[in-house]
Amino acid sequence: MSIVARHRLPEETRGLWVVRTSLVSPRSIERVVQLASRYGYNALFVQVRGRGDAYYRSSYEPRAETLAGQPADFDPLGYLLQCADGVGLQIHAWLNVFYVWSQPRPPRSRQHVISRRPQWIARDRHERYQMTTAGKVEGVYLCPSNPNVQAHTLQVFAEVAQRYPQLDGLHLDYVRYPYEGYCYCAGCRARFRNAMAERVTAARRATLDRQAAGRNPLAWMEAFPEAWDEWRREQVSAFVQRFSRQSRQVNPNLILSAAVWHDALSAAHHKFQDWRRWLHSDWLDTVLPMAYDRDTAVVQRQAAQAMAQADGRPVIVGIGAWQISPDSAVNKIRAVRRHAARGFCLFSYDVVTQSGASETYLRQIEGEVNPKPFG
Ligand SMILES: [Zn+2]
Repeated sequence: MSIVARHRLPEETRGLWVVRTSLVSPRSIERVVQLASRYGYNALFVQVRGRGDAYYRSSYEPRAETLAGQPADFDPLGYLLQCADGVGLQIHAWLNVFYVWSQPRPPRSRQHVISRRPQWIARDRHERYQMTTAGKVEGVYLCPSNPNVQAHTLQVFAEVAQRYPQLDGLHLDYVRYPYEGYCYCAGCRARFRNAMAERVTAARRATLDRQAAGRNPLAWMEAFPEAWDEWRREQVSAFVQRFSRQSRQVNPNLILSAAVWHDALSAAHHKFQDWRRWLHSDWLDTVLPMAYDRDTAVVQRQAAQAMAQADGRPVIVGIGAWQISPDSAVNKIRAVRRHAARGFCLFSYDVVTQSGASETYLRQIEGEVNPKPFG
């Protein structure tokens, strides 16, 4: 590893997550940059891959449906980078990883990954998946262990890094399984079986293969529940490692980060999102644990825990501003600072500004976000 400081993470990141609904017109993008710089922020995490679609120029995924009313050459990310040039805002491309659809109807574009490759969709124990956020899962995920899914997703992300060299960072979200109930697709069953086959006796192998071919397709997973969990964790971690290597090759200055479940243990066990390992292995430069509770004492506790779990690596604490008052946001920013986190990030610009229509919230917390020296 080079001894040159690789990334340029500020002393304190004062960030806003910007949901893709604010990227649908040049005017709304101008407003994002204007408000963020006016009210003391220094970083934007801008959602440019929402649901297997693109708010940028992509060769691999369809343009987002919400951009249909805009001229074909309108490039939200490109335009945002242009607007943010020289105003002191870091721009991170926020990329949803395995989560690719959340509507009851199929995508309009036949180029969309779930239309082109339905066999890549993650399945539950009954081979089912769901299209919307109505149940326990947010919608359609792709199977994290499928090598084609990983290759496709890496190709998509490499293009973002290559095409937009002005970016300060790449920010992963939904880099995890939906929950323990996924993925039991045919590919996972075969891959896990192959990973385990060498570790058991020939007799055991024959028995499990017979069961799996007959009444219990999940025989291998059920026989080795701990190994099955570990294997799933490994799939996501392998993706993050590849993503890291690739991104640093394309642009060594990129800050690599992920939005994560706030408690590392729970993340690793229930979402197979082993972010502690990703930080300690230097695959990511920082994580943004989502400490979205309304109660400041809870947020303070979660921030302290995440900092301890990160073991000295930079942590930027995510605050659920959408569901708290400006006063409460101020208290949480103070709590985060008391724990010497590397900054905070509010979720989200869109909610607190009512999609750019109101400055009231940002104005009310401005004094805390960016305290100015006397005089
Ligand atoms: Zn699968």
